[in-house]
Amino acid sequence: MINLHKFDIGKVDIRELIIPADKVAHVQIGNPLEHALLVLIKSGYSAVPVLDPSFRLHGLISKTLILDSVLGMERIEMEKLSDKKVEEVMNTKIPRLTKGDPFMKALGQSIDHPFVCVQDDDQIFEGILTRRAILKLFSRMLNQSD
Ligand code: AMP
Repeated sequence: MINLHKFDIGKVDIRELIIPADKVAHVQIGNPLEHALLVLIKSGYSAVPVLDPSFRLHGLISKTLILDSVLGMERIEMEKLSDKKVEEVMNTKIPRLTKGDPFMKALGQSIDHPFVCVQDDDQIFEGILTRRAILKLFSRMLNQSD
């Protein structure tokens, strides 16, 4: 039987789990959807953050959102990819964390989201916290628990 009581999950510092901003693929406000789709396909990610030139976080753009926005009645209207901008399509209602937030908040948000963006008090993007990083942490804890 695994004893999780040995670990104080409340003491986990989310700073240790964050992928820093300089290692996170992103697109910028003003980029055409075509560019965003290229970034997503080349990186292999399903969604990436949308930032402005000051590195402020505005939302997330995903392959699904992009393809949905160019879906016509009978075909995918690929020619629209160069006309539309990421800000017309991105999701702005996203969960956000700050580095000082409790781990339990990150855990709760990652139930419904494969990754959560981390920003500072001025909305400057600082990185992401992935569900994968949280699962890796739990896996390490469980392996140490005997
Ligand atoms: P993973 O934890 O690698 O399964 O990633 C889950 C999701 O987090 C990916 O589909 C991406 O949307 C996002 N993600 C992870 N790492 C990065 C990164 N370095 N740059 C941009 N997005 C990332």
